[in-house]
Amino acid sequence: MESFKTFQKLRESGIFTNFIKQGCDVADIIQLLPDNIANQIAAGEVIQRPASAVKELLENAADAGATEIRLLITDAGKALIQVIDNGKGMSETDARMAFERHATSKIRNIDDLFRIKTMGFRGEALASIAAVAQVELRTRREEDELGTHIEIENSRVRKQEPCAAATGTSISMKNLFFNVPARRNFLKSNAAEMRHIVEEFIRVSMAFPGIFFSMTSNGQEVFHLEAGSLKQRIVQLLGNSYNAKLVSVHEETDYMNIYGFVGKPETARKTRGDQYFFVNSRFIKSAYLNHAVNSAFEGMIAKDSFPSYVLYIDLDPSQVDINVHPTKQEIKFEDEKIIYAFVQAAVKHALAQFSIAPSLDFTLNAEIQGMDAVSKPFTTDKKDAVASSPLFKTFSQKNQAHFIEKDDKTGLSHWKDFFKPAGNETTGTAEPVTQPAAPVLYSLRVLPDTPLLQLHNTYIIASTNSGFLLVHQQLAHERILYERYGMAAHGQHMATQQSLFPVNLELTPADAVLLNDLIPDLLAIGYQIEPFGNNSFVIQGIPADILPGNEKHAIELLIEQFKHFSSDVKFSKREKLVRCLARQQAIKAGQALTQKEMLHLVEELFTSNSPNVTPTGSPTYLEFKEDYLDRMFGR
Ligand code: ADP
Ligand code: MG
Repeated sequence: MESFKTFQKLRESGIFTNFIKQGCDVADIIQLLPDNIANQIAAGEVIQRPASAVKELLENAADAGATEIRLLITDAGKALIQVIDNGKGMSETDARMAFERHATSKIRNIDDLFRIKTMGFRGEALASIAAVAQVELRTRREEDELGTHIEIENSRVRKQEPCAAATGTSISMKNLFFNVPARRNFLKSNAAEMRHIVEEFIRVSMAFPGIFFSMTSNGQEVFHLEAGSLKQRIVQLLGNSYNAKLVSVHEETDYMNIYGFVGKPETARKTRGDQYFFVNSRFIKSAYLNHAVNSAFEGMIAKDSFPSYVLYIDLDPSQVDINVHPTKQEIKFEDEKIIYAFVQAAVKHALAQFSIAPSLDFTLNAEIQGMDAVSKPFTTDKKDAVASSPLFKTFSQKNQAHFIEKDDKTGLSHWKDFFKPAGNETTGTAEPVTQPAAPVLYSLRVLPDTPLLQLHNTYIIASTNSGFLLVHQQLAHERILYERYGMAAHGQHMATQQSLFPVNLELTPADAVLLNDLIPDLLAIGYQIEPFGNNSFVIQGIPADILPGNEKHAIELLIEQFKHFSSDVKFSKREKLVRCLARQQAIKAGQALTQKEMLHLVEELFTSNSPNVTPTGSPTYLEFKEDYLDRMFGR
């Protein structure tokens, strides 16, 4: 009845007659979207930015059994992304089919789908790319005399003809999102998009050390990775400094194999840096497995630091489940507990063997050891079933690369705490120990002329007219530097001291891309750095108030910290840089200070704009009032 009334109302409003006037019948207002529009919509999930296309194309090349894969980029992938491989190529029909939605050679029937629980094969990548870019394909199988040349734009084939071509496949995609301006406008700066591309390139090339990879950006070769051992590949990608600092991990069981490397404890970083997990040759992010590795390092590295690792887990694909939704890709193991225990035990074992951890218990816990999956070998039946699956063969030959990224927020959680309102809300403690709600300017002229006292080389005690202040030297200094660098970054250029002996800095290709991007902002703060070709840089000058000597380390650390925060969108690049630098350059707790230094510090703190909190919201000092002290003593 209700709905009839609504219907009548609508009819009275004339809406239906309008439809009919426009040539639409009430009955058929629903239309099928044209294919190219449907493809464009679906493409949005798979191809979000140039880096997603890079990942898909590189994986396809690896899947095709290539031994050489070249990536060519122009304008951070906005103008051109091209991948050339020497893999098995495609027949004329396959070449055409490859661009159809749900076209894949990797799944044959629904059984395959369940057996492997979809390892991410959706047959959607090429269809998506063809929907949002101008695509050109050249491909030839070894056995064919002529290859196939296809041009597709907007999901429509513009050209298809036989051509001469090398064995393998070359796919180039030009002008990504040329037909979806909303998306094109959404792309970030070239430097930012380039960073994403480099990240994907590293992940795929790290999964396949046996394949030669190169990457060229605007005509300049950024990576050149000869095929080699796993260790060689890791050092190529993460930098020479790892060379003598990797501990090999290798455990094989019927259930799963783990191999790879962990960095010796000295390579642990203050920021989550080089941590890579691959499952069946696909990069994954897993907070759970990360925890397993961290726990194996317990007691060997500082609590607040992160171990480096590159670990590969191979197991029967039926034990892995992937949520295939492209944006919330996540890996799930049939039995997480087992995997956790194995990872932890394998890493402990490795560390113990290299006598890095003298006496560690690295056996599996009894509960896990008793589990069927671990204690009993695969039955012959089960083994055969799995081994005969064509998919397992390709996996075990490590021919699959699919990257599943989980939205990992864990590492950034503390950024959320930033800018908690300072003052009255900050500590939550009642009156006795307080932080002034509004910054009280304790100019030292107001402070009584008594000497300052340093406690545990960390706290400075300064008496006031109504009690005393307990200043945390590191946090206080962080506030001071934050404001100083902040001012510099926003106009008032900081003085630079020219280095007498310019310092040379060699970085990994990925870090070089990042540093290039930061150079103008660093200059505003007083760092004068110039690119020197081949991923190296020269530090010509440093901010006037920084002691020369460790500028190389300072920049490396800065890059490391910056990477850690780079996915946080709340802050501008400069703001992040200023925060990193302030934290890094602050005098540390534990450092003895002279009377003069303490005086200087306290004075500067109270002339800053917000003396009572650090940029991240920690208190910089606490105030103890005299009347509270009196009350405590029953006076
Ligand atoms: P999927 O990789 O999930 O199968 P894609 O859309 O990425 O889906 O690729 C579709 C098909 O095109 C693949 O299954 C494969 O048969 C073929 N293909 C794609 N890229 C290549 C390549 N570089 N060499 C050979 N065949 C390829
Ligand atoms: Mg693919």
